[in-house]
Amino acid sequence: MASQDTDTTRTDQLTFQDPVERYPSISPPEDQQPEPGSQQDLTPAADLGEFSYRGTGRLTGRKALVTGGDSGIGAAVAIAFAREGADVAITYLPAEEEDAREVERIITETGRKAALLPGDLTDAEFCAEVVDRAVSALGGLDILVNNAGKQIATESIEEITDEQLESTYQANILAMFRLVKASLKHLQPGSAIINTTSVQAYQPSPTLLDYASTKAAINNFTKGLAQQLAPQGIRVNAVAPGPIWTPLQPSGGQMPEQLPEFGQSVPLGRAGQPTELAPAYVFLASPESSYVLGETLNVNGGSPTP
Ligand code: NAD
Ligand code: MG
Repeated sequence: MASQDTDTTRTDQLTFQDPVERYPSISPPEDQQPEPGSQQDLTPAADLGEFSYRGTGRLTGRKALVTGGDSGIGAAVAIAFAREGADVAITYLPAEEEDAREVERIITETGRKAALLPGDLTDAEFCAEVVDRAVSALGGLDILVNNAGKQIATESIEEITDEQLESTYQANILAMFRLVKASLKHLQPGSAIINTTSVQAYQPSPTLLDYASTKAAINNFTKGLAQQLAPQGIRVNAVAPGPIWTPLQPSGGQMPEQLPEFGQSVPLGRAGQPTELAPAYVFLASPESSYVLGETLNVNGGSPTP
């Protein structure tokens, strides 16, 4: 069923406003969802930009693949890309079909093409084939957003099972190598690769040793790959979110007792909403950032970064 925005007071990302007040500080319950989490079950609900992201033609005619585009930051990026004029393919886990359908609906209502590509990025074969499937569905590819990620908090290193360690590294960093390898034959000069890293790359929580170390690797990979692909006219950059309210957090990403204070310790005093990340990805994907390569754009509510 198509939803309709009936809130006439609503602003968009281009409205002059106080960033402290743009969204309320949230205090989520300690309730847990099963991994990988569901956008539709997220309490409180998060803003993916359906009614708050206004496009201005910055990605007209572009073709993007966004991993983990069913929910959270990836969904907000997929929606913003469509609003900016791009066709968008998203990958997600088969269990996330319902969330993916909702993103498909929003992209399609925007008048752009959406392609749904379910599968597991810890599977090397899926990584190799999903890019070709995106290219067939969209008729090409010029933006790759490596955004899917796994985050499971544990009290001690002894609780990190080998299965968790390996699947976190597979999903967060090994998949990036594989997806980039599979994409290069399709990407022409002007194309952009954007990797999602994290403030955890520089400020690792003691409960996220496996996750945080993949994020440091992603930052490093981004800076190396950017140099390698620059002569081909392909720009590689990263976005490093701070605490953003997405299904990742209440599905094992945080210790439950941390959830009621989620995001409150950053200088802005509140967690970020997924759609607040989207302009960073749009900027890095758009030709206007032609001289920006190997950069990590921090979108974190003001936490200092190196
Ligand atoms: P999210 O749960 O909405 O999105 C993560 C997505 O990753 C899932 O929807 C799922 O489709 C995908 N994924 C996970 N494991 C996968 C697998 N094995 N195969 C295929 N897909 C898989 O959460 P999010 O917070 O929007 O996460 C997006 C990215 O942002 C992640 O890389 C995460 O590390 C990063 N990040 C999030 C925060 C935050 O506070 N939410 C902060 C910093 C970085
Ligand atoms: Mg999801």
